[in-house]
Amino acid sequence: MSRIFSGIQPSGELHIGNYLGAVKNWAALQHQFESFFCVVNYHAIIGSYEPADLVRRTHEMAVGLLAAGLDPAVCTIFVQSQVPEHTELAWIFNTLTPLGELERQTQYKDKASRQEQVMAGLLNYPVLQAADILLYRADVVPVGEDQVQHLELSRVVARNWNARFSSGAPYFPEPQPRLTPTRRIVGLDGQAKMSKSIGNTVGLLETPEQIWDKLRPAVTDPARQRKTDAGEPERCNTIYQLHRAFSPAETVAEVEVNCRGAKWGCIDCKKVLHQHMVAELTPIRERAVALQADPALVQDVLQAGAAKARVVASRTIADVKEKMGLPLA
Ligand code: ADP
Repeated sequence: MSRIFSGIQPSGELHIGNYLGAVKNWAALQHQFESFFCVVNYHAIIGSYEPADLVRRTHEMAVGLLAAGLDPAVCTIFVQSQVPEHTELAWIFNTLTPLGELERQTQYKDKASRQEQVMAGLLNYPVLQAADILLYRADVVPVGEDQVQHLELSRVVARNWNARFSSGAPYFPEPQPRLTPTRRIVGLDGQAKMSKSIGNTVGLLETPEQIWDKLRPAVTDPARQRKTDAGEPERCNTIYQLHRAFSPAETVAEVEVNCRGAKWGCIDCKKVLHQHMVAELTPIRERAVALQADPALVQDVLQAGAAKARVVASRTIADVKEKMGLPLA
């Protein structure tokens, strides 16, 4: 069976971009692949943060993932820092990653340009990500579109290591992305990728009232000033895209006709979307409420997940060290 790995930063509550671009897919794929899903807290300490907040956000992210359908009886779900082999392999991979490849990563350039002092961890982030994936020798990585370039780097690292140290068949697979049809969800501003750091998100666990408060003012087709103006769904980046993600095909067809023909206003259209979103998200929120009431259960799941992950991780590290002339402990 092929193996999948994917990670998510403990940035607090999951948003529907994470859900539609990645996590919903994980919940489906866990039944087809041997699956490892990781809350990547070492990635989250790049930049300033409060330790107590990080503890809380890590826990909340685990709650969100379990509520969204990851089943610890089927997949392995764990926290990165509880499996020390991740950072061990990252150091090894640092010695095989060309600096130029890291410097041309779009996310690095973006984030570095906004900072006065750039830490080495920001540059080396994709090396740790390569280690995360290759530690499990995963060949499929279900992610959103923003991660495709980083995955290319993981393939470079795998290739470089294999060329230097594999004898016979390549030891590390070259991991391939697995995208969803909703690979890039646009935020409520109708402009940028939905992202926590921009503040244009809808939280996966928000109540129907909170979701409505966010949908109501969300940007729609900018050319549609009045209800009587004919709209163009393709120009309505957020609401139309969310309809396609949450509403059945008949509703999406109705949206297209009613928007183009100015048969309803954007608020009518948003009300229908709201209904379909609430129908899909309510069971998730209810599961989260139950999990929030039992923090010890969530911690037990993560401990057991880390123990399962370490079985595979320690095997890989032992192989890697042996092939590289590094004695094991
Ligand atoms: P964020 O960008 O909110 O900090 P992460 O970087 O932790 O989230 O991403 C977790 C997963 O969610 C990744 O697979 C990423 O590709 C996916 N993802 C994040 N934002 C979006 C989005 N707006 N649309 C689709 N997928 C997304």
